[in-house]
Amino acid sequence: MPLPRVAVCGISLEASTFSPALTTAAMLAPRRGREVLDAWEFWSEGGSLAERAEWIGVLQARSIAGGAIPADDYALLRAEILAGLVALVAQAPLDGLVLDLHGAASVVGMDDMEGDLAVAVRAVVGADCLISTGMDLHGNVSRTLAETVDLLTTYRTAPHVDWQETKERAARNLVDRLALPLGQRRPAKAWVPVPILLPGEMTSTRQEPATGLYARVPEIEALDGILDAGIWIGYPWADEPRNCAVVMVVGDDADLALSSATALAGELWERREEFGFVAPTGTFDEVLAAAIASPVAPYFVSDSGDNPTAGGAGDVTWTLTQLLANEELAASGKRAIYASIPDAMGALAAAEAGVGADVRFTLGARVDDRPAPPVEVSGRVVMVVPSEDNLEIVVRTPAVDVVLTRRRRPYHLESDFTRLGLDPRRADVVVVKIGYLEPELFDMATDWMLALTPGGVDQDLARLGHERIQRPMFPLDDVSAVDPLADAVLFRGDR
Ligand SMILES: [Zn+2]
Repeated sequence: MPLPRVAVCGISLEASTFSPALTTAAMLAPRRGREVLDAWEFWSEGGSLAERAEWIGVLQARSIAGGAIPADDYALLRAEILAGLVALVAQAPLDGLVLDLHGAASVVGMDDMEGDLAVAVRAVVGADCLISTGMDLHGNVSRTLAETVDLLTTYRTAPHVDWQETKERAARNLVDRLALPLGQRRPAKAWVPVPILLPGEMTSTRQEPATGLYARVPEIEALDGILDAGIWIGYPWADEPRNCAVVMVVGDDADLALSSATALAGELWERREEFGFVAPTGTFDEVLAAAIASPVAPYFVSDSGDNPTAGGAGDVTWTLTQLLANEELAASGKRAIYASIPDAMGALAAAEAGVGADVRFTLGARVDDRPAPPVEVSGRVVMVVPSEDNLEIVVRTPAVDVVLTRRRRPYHLESDFTRLGLDPRRADVVVVKIGYLEPELFDMATDWMLALTPGGVDQDLARLGHERIQRPMFPLDDVSAVDPLADAVLFRGDR
């Protein structure tokens, strides 16, 4: 039997619509053809699924979280994906397609990018082609997406330590189903939107109730007649009608898929009041005071409102301005690291000045200047680290080592600091633009608080003022009269 022909394409982005930032096609750095497959080992040569299909890369665009995609940029990427698929289908029918999505992309002036792309792709590949996707649990699953894609799965951990195995599971589920005869491949899908909208920092699987709820997922998956199950907790920093939690169960036993999905959605609803922040929270003043007073170090502070990996513009200056002006920090004799402030012109000027130079710059707030204007930083350049796609500088001020970059980027690893000559383990206070601490930072932190700072991914959702999501929505509204299972839908499969 010839191998099934499977195309791979998609657009993967998490985009805040509460930030003025935009994510252009160039920033989405599209890979084309063979390069698309290089992204994952499992279907590359020698990988676990390499021999299970003829994998054909079309176009895969991906960026770290940011703002919405301009309409023209999306149109361009979408057209190229469709043209690639048209050319493939002209050679021979496609048996399968992996639609590689995050699930929380936004396009300026348009709702439900993933649903739009899925429908457009379906129109080219035809009804017999099986489409599979492995998503981020912070993504959204609209009714359109649930109906159009045949196999949907998502991460089961946050932080996402299972991202690779989820992408592999989506591909493996697809080739497993393609081994069945045509007419028996398509499973039933139960889709249950749950009117809950919470930040990832309240729904980490490191703590209850998410630990217990996500532990139910593999149990449901293991049932006879069930193929996969997932809880998409959803993305709160976009204002579209689809934004809320979704439970899905996929399998040949349609009744069991529906009953287990509604049972899990019911459990999620019952436990909604238990969700709480992964760390103690406070205003930045409160958090910094606690960090300065702490007898243990390093004390980590999440500058959460402008977290670039959640969709913050990354160049909000509000927190750095407060930190540099803080008299208690200056008087304490303690030192802080601040990561980071992106400013292309500032970084180039600092590199030009060179290590040892005393500099004075006005930095940041070029993209998002709503919370605060550009911040003045005076100090000595102590490190300049150029890389292929960035330029990182450390400016030492009396109490703070400020990390200045040409482009915004996350600081999630110990090596992100040590290669800049910074030792976060020996710092008193480490302030990072991040939400929940990624594993290496979590391990390093002796203590940790999450500062509720302003920005495009403000953790205080009520401050953002959603206007287009479904109402009532927990925790923004009174939900005492809500039936959380009212919108459950069963999409029938082949059997
Ligand atoms: Zn995520």
